[in-house]
Amino acid sequence: MKVKLCSTVGGTVIPIESVADPAFSEKMMGDGLAVRPALVRQAVVAPAAGTVANVSRTGHAVVLNVADRFEVLMHIGIDTVNLAGAGFTPKVKNGDAVTAGQELIEVDFQEISQKAPSVDVITIITNLEAGDRLIKTREGALKAGEELFAVVAGEAGAASGGAEDSGEELVSPPVMILNAVGIHARPALALSQIAAKYPYVRIRKGDKEVNGKSIAALMGLNAVYQDEVRIVARGPEAGAAIEEITAAIKSGLGEAVKTPGEAKKAELVDFSKTVELKGVTASPGLVAGKTHQAKTRDFEFPERAENPAEQLIIFNDSLLLSEMRLTRNIAEAEENKQTAQAEIFQAHVGILKDEDIVQNARDFIAEGWGAAAAYRRAVAESAKPLQGLNNPILKERLLDFKDVERMMLLYILGIEDEALDMPDGTILAAAELAPSDLKRYRNVAGYLLAGGSATSHASIMLRNMGIPALAAAGEAVLQIPGGMNAILDAASGTAIVNPTDEWLAEMKRKQEMFAEIHRRNIARTREPSVTKDGLAIQVKGNISNTREARKADEFGAEGVGLFRTEFMFMGGTKAPEAETHRRLYQEILDAMPSGGAVTFRLLDVGGDKPIAYMEGLAGEENPIVGLRGVRNYPLNIEVIRAQIRGLLSITPLSRVKIMIPMVAQLSEYQWVKKLLDEEKAALGVAESVELGVMVEVPSLALTAAEIAKEAAFFSIGTNDLSQYALAMDRGNPNLASRLNNLHPAVLRLIKMTAEGGKAAGITTAVCGAMASELMAVPMLVGLGVTELSAAMNAIPDVKALVRELDAAHCREAAEKALGLASAEAVEELVRREFGALLPF
Ligand code: PEP
Ligand code: MG
Repeated sequence: MKVKLCSTVGGTVIPIESVADPAFSEKMMGDGLAVRPALVRQAVVAPAAGTVANVSRTGHAVVLNVADRFEVLMHIGIDTVNLAGAGFTPKVKNGDAVTAGQELIEVDFQEISQKAPSVDVITIITNLEAGDRLIKTREGALKAGEELFAVVAGEAGAASGGAEDSGEELVSPPVMILNAVGIHARPALALSQIAAKYPYVRIRKGDKEVNGKSIAALMGLNAVYQDEVRIVARGPEAGAAIEEITAAIKSGLGEAVKTPGEAKKAELVDFSKTVELKGVTASPGLVAGKTHQAKTRDFEFPERAENPAEQLIIFNDSLLLSEMRLTRNIAEAEENKQTAQAEIFQAHVGILKDEDIVQNARDFIAEGWGAAAAYRRAVAESAKPLQGLNNPILKERLLDFKDVERMMLLYILGIEDEALDMPDGTILAAAELAPSDLKRYRNVAGYLLAGGSATSHASIMLRNMGIPALAAAGEAVLQIPGGMNAILDAASGTAIVNPTDEWLAEMKRKQEMFAEIHRRNIARTREPSVTKDGLAIQVKGNISNTREARKADEFGAEGVGLFRTEFMFMGGTKAPEAETHRRLYQEILDAMPSGGAVTFRLLDVGGDKPIAYMEGLAGEENPIVGLRGVRNYPLNIEVIRAQIRGLLSITPLSRVKIMIPMVAQLSEYQWVKKLLDEEKAALGVAESVELGVMVEVPSLALTAAEIAKEAAFFSIGTNDLSQYALAMDRGNPNLASRLNNLHPAVLRLIKMTAEGGKAAGITTAVCGAMASELMAVPMLVGLGVTELSAAMNAIPDVKALVRELDAAHCREAAEKALGLASAEAVEELVRREFGALLPF
């Protein structure tokens, strides 16, 4: 049998030996020819009639089965798997029958030439047998579809994995693929070379099984990072084959291994001594108690089931029961005015009803999988794209998938979910938390987490519940023995495990003293906050939903200095309409009977807070210095217009202030101002609405005097201002203890801002966490800040402290602080000058 193979592109013939990759040039993967294409957009066409055995996920390679005998691999360029699909548009899918010359993949060769070491299109036969012969006569230029080479089949048959009957079949346990781009051409070659040493090796992924000696078949498995495969072997050396291939897969098949799981690895920690752990504040607060390790319960169930019809009924019932449970949770949260909780459960309904997950699970059940295994597999496939992302927020959403999966498995397997009542004062140590864990573990005084972050759904819920929690404290957390004394000082990012008796007693005393002072301050919180020498400092609240607006009002806030509007929309899949904005914002105003002004921050999306429907955020290498805040508005202009329209429609407008996040230069303010004016004109709004800027980028602080001539107010976001001034990622647990906003560099930026504001007659506020830190308050007053927007719980304490301060003394001390060289030196100064007024 002779099969002719035509050129897949127009270009110049290149001998296979000259291709810039030894995997091809040394014919390790098979024999054939390459063509160097003209650098234009053109389609790679089928070299012969056949069936598409595999189109790689990234579109850079196709395998065709030709004449029921030859596997023909077309590999477009070298190292092009790394382009993750950019420049490739597949025109066929697995299983398609194609004719010679039919378009397989459209390729932008110009684009890939800029990113890949070579664009040569390699066409090789990967399953040549002894006796097969290639006829290569073509040289020079040729067009797509002209004959490139031919192959004449010898006598031997196609490989099938080897002798079928040579002994008992051995199947390995699952082995995880750990190379980042999965089994593409090169790892497939490495695997096939090992398999070739043994008589019978096949590789199984799910219910698909292929010949372990065929590179093309291995690529056709589409095994990607973190997929699990099993090795199937027969013959006297089956055990050895499994052992060797398992080790090769685990070590990356010749490529670098990427270990899943990001949590910090810890050495064995000796908890017989006092151990201090550092993390990030997920929910502030101080508590002393006894540790308890949370147990993650896994479920055991068989992969296959006898009766698909019965499994389908169980599955459908469980879907219904889960939805009913979530609906109950939403109603309960709404009744308690817990907007954030209700939204999270709403997002869980979205995951539960995800059409792909439900349909895939039903398909797997029809193929003989048990309902539990089918559901777990379907969820895993849908959640997979989130796994490889370098994006903490999206990674957090994986927890929501797991949470919904857990609920479904409980119903499918008919297991009662255990509610665990903890003894008073329990500090729960856990790897991470899903929202449902908060319902399951009752009466927890504080949480200490190995992983997680301040932005996870569970953290948001904990802040609302006022339960302290420390996240990202590293894997040492999981080694803490149960029943051990611990102090969780979540606000300062520290946990002390097994403290000395004196330390513990001191902490308990402090905890009681703080509670008593706090009670007294709450009782006086309605009194104005004016310094002893008569300087009025407005103390407002930071909020992110209606419940918090109500609470801020109760705590004596003189309005809201920062409403983080984006938190209301984080879970959504499409941009809210103007009417949705209007309704939610009106609720906020109405929730504050004392009638203070509310500073609405326009969406601060990007950085650590991506939202799926906002353009320009996907794939940023450095999102913290990427299209954050105002920088992404021009790409999402209708989203921002809708928010502004919603804001302009609430009443009374005299209580509305609008604030722009992440402004770095005047033109960004002017751009939003123009948008605001256009929307005002369109809606016929004549009233003036204050438009101010957040000062959180050093460039703005440094040019504050100029910006102040146009902006209506300044509000300093010290969380970001410190992050950018000190070049320390605010989400990095390893830097948490060093990212100190009392650093003199940060203080200088605050001073420049306040001076710029004062010269132009506008207010300078602080709405970052610094405004809630009692130690920082004298410095802020001294630097010229006249408005502090604090976390709700801190409002009464900040107000009480202001009443004890003398502004002239604060100014004097702040001046001294500016001349110091470190945050620690400033802390010392504050203790020296104001220690008597601070409750620590
Ligand atoms: C800040 O950066 O200080 C701030 C208040 O904004 P956010 O914390 O929401 O980024
Ligand atoms: Mg900020």
